[in-house]
Amino acid sequence: MAGSRVAVVTGANQGIGYATVKELCKTFVGSVYLTSRNENLGRAAVEELEKLGLHPKYHQLDIDDEFSVLRLRDYLKATYGGLDILVNNAAMLILAKDEDSRELFAENTRSVVQTNFFNTFRVCNILFPLLRPHARVVNLSSSMGHISQIEGQSEAATTLRAKFSSPDLSYEELLKLMNDFLDAVKRGDHADYGWPRKNWVSYIASKIAVSAMTRIQQRDFDVDPREDIIVNHVHPGYVNTKMASFKGVLTIEQGAVAPAWLATLPLNDVTNPKGAYVWHDKTIVDWVNGPLPAQY
Ligand code: NAP
Repeated sequence: MAGSRVAVVTGANQGIGYATVKELCKTFVGSVYLTSRNENLGRAAVEELEKLGLHPKYHQLDIDDEFSVLRLRDYLKATYGGLDILVNNAAMLILAKDEDSRELFAENTRSVVQTNFFNTFRVCNILFPLLRPHARVVNLSSSMGHISQIEGQSEAATTLRAKFSSPDLSYEELLKLMNDFLDAVKRGDHADYGWPRKNWVSYIASKIAVSAMTRIQQRDFDVDPREDIIVNHVHPGYVNTKMASFKGVLTIEQGAVAPAWLATLPLNDVTNPKGAYVWHDKTIVDWVNGPLPAQY
């Protein structure tokens, strides 16, 4: 199997990740790994797809557990000698309630930002050395991850947007921005630094960071000796999943359309989308200046 092509989707036992595996099983020539933090749930999802005549493979992956990520890396290296597609889909959402204490709000915010941003960043850092030339990486952002979610014309909001959207932003600066955000939430003064309304702010911050990270990653790939590696960030739509309390308007299969498309962009001569923020209908949206399409 060494040398044969391989795709990995994180958080794929349900929702958009599951549907992305389903689609890749149909369109990608190679092995497709459905991964999940809970092995029983992941294996049950594989069985469901088997019943449809599809043949995903399985590997455990909890992005919150560094050893789990390292085990997957070692397995991929030994079995395939590389990685061709990585879909960073795993994430969580805890909506804050008005009655939450500052301590609970800070604790929940830390959990969301830790999983959605810091641990996704760590997955990338551990798995990117395996990427082969022409690899495709897809980072699940959100409409909430658009820079305009830092709302308003206050000096603080304008400064914050400028920092996140700087074309020269470094990983160190991004990590500092996110640690500063967590410190501000702990103190209870994050709004003074331009951050928006309370109940969504942890998710918004985590997804803005995922999007900002994607832009830096593509800058790095552009000068990487491995040719033609592309990463994009995507808003999959408002999708009918557990995260969306099953209120989304798109099916999981519709939500997987753009992620699966980005994962299988042609192997040569792709100039666009590249490091781009892509909407669920495959259009490219300007992440820095917007505007966001009306249809979420
Ligand atoms: P979902 O149905 O809740 O699925 C999330 C998946 O991530 C689950 O399989 C979950 O596992 C997994 N996960 C969470 N933490 C994990 C960890 N530490 N390690 C590994 N897996 C973990 O949500 P979804 O709506 O499909 O969301 C998929 C992606 O799309 C997310 O990045 C989300 O932010 C993004 N998104 C969704 C929408 C929407 O409308 N649904 C809109 C914009 C963006 P468990 O089953 O074990 O919890």
